[in-house]
Amino acid sequence: MARTSRIQWRALSRRTVVIRSLACAAGAAASLAPVNEASAKMAQKAVEYQDTPKGDQQCSNCSLFQEPNACTLVDGEISPAGWCKFWVKKTG
Ligand code: SF4
Repeated sequence: MARTSRIQWRALSRRTVVIRSLACAAGAAASLAPVNEASAKMAQKAVEYQDTPKGDQQCSNCSLFQEPNACTLVDGEISPAGWCKFWVKKTG
């Protein structure tokens, strides 16, 4: 593996860890303080939300999506076909 390739892989891995940590923290915060949920969410612009998918990544297959059109992390109406930079693959 080339040096550049290893560095890119490490950066991607760190990015994945950071994103998943933020997602866990957001989920924990939402469950611990449901009264303040609306004010604790991030603005769509801040997370680069778009109402179209990014490849095979979209809100409906993100672990933070809440049916029918909400998100535990992002404020406002969220399309099932949308996407943002905090997308985390839904498991199970
Ligand atoms: S991809 Fe969609 S459901 Fe997932 S965090 Fe972003 S806005 Fe929320």
